[in-house]
Amino acid sequence: MRIAVLSDIHSNLPALDAVLGSLGTVDAVWHLGDVVGYGPDADAVVRRLREAGAIGVRGNHDDAACGGDSIEGFNPDARKAAEWTRAHVDEATLSYLAGLPEVLTPDGTDFTLVHGSPRDPIWEYLSSSSGARESLAVLETRYCLVGHTHVPLVFRERHGAIERMTVEPESRLELGAGRMILNPGSVGQPRDGCPDASYLILDTAAGHATWHRVAYDIAAVQAAILAAGLPVSLARRLSYGQ
Ligand code: ZN
Repeated sequence: MRIAVLSDIHSNLPALDAVLGSLGTVDAVWHLGDVVGYGPDADAVVRRLREAGAIGVRGNHDDAACGGDSIEGFNPDARKAAEWTRAHVDEATLSYLAGLPEVLTPDGTDFTLVHGSPRDPIWEYLSSSSGARESLAVLETRYCLVGHTHVPLVFRERHGAIERMTVEPESRLELGAGRMILNPGSVGQPRDGCPDASYLILDTAAGHATWHRVAYDIAAVQAAILAAGLPVSLARRLSYGQ
């Protein structure tokens, strides 16, 4: 199977369209949550995911958008965007977000999908080897796919140690025998210093994962953020990938 793994789309339709347009033929699209929040195109992004037959999990911003208490943990700009999203999404979007599970293991696969971590599926940021070790201790599949940090990253278990590997664009990793946690980076709000949309392709037959970056029309989504009255910082950071 050739599977596209997308995370943290954050209502950024130009970024999602650029990614979907660059995938080639895939057997499945998996997403790791934060479909909405920050950006202006929640309804259209959810429609695209439905059309693509995507399956996925709930992020803290999805939870906040459909009335969950995740909003209490947000900084002021994230909170404003979450309140804006609550006020502007249609019923179809709300029911889609409300129906997202916190954890998903697609049938017949050895992958667990969560937004944050297996320990705390909605909120934990996995950025350290110690956090990864504790997550691997509760993980029931060989591989785990996480988002939430918006940074492409891998944690690999080797001879009892946890190796933390940052990921360069277009790099390929053999999945191999060891257990692993893989982060595809963010489609709609990258935070690794590169503004291009980030995603991951899994080739389960060949046994490898490849990270990709794709440029998109950042100015278009920035204009839409400002036109919607969302915080200006949410537009500005897209230029820097921060
Ligand atoms: Zn996010």
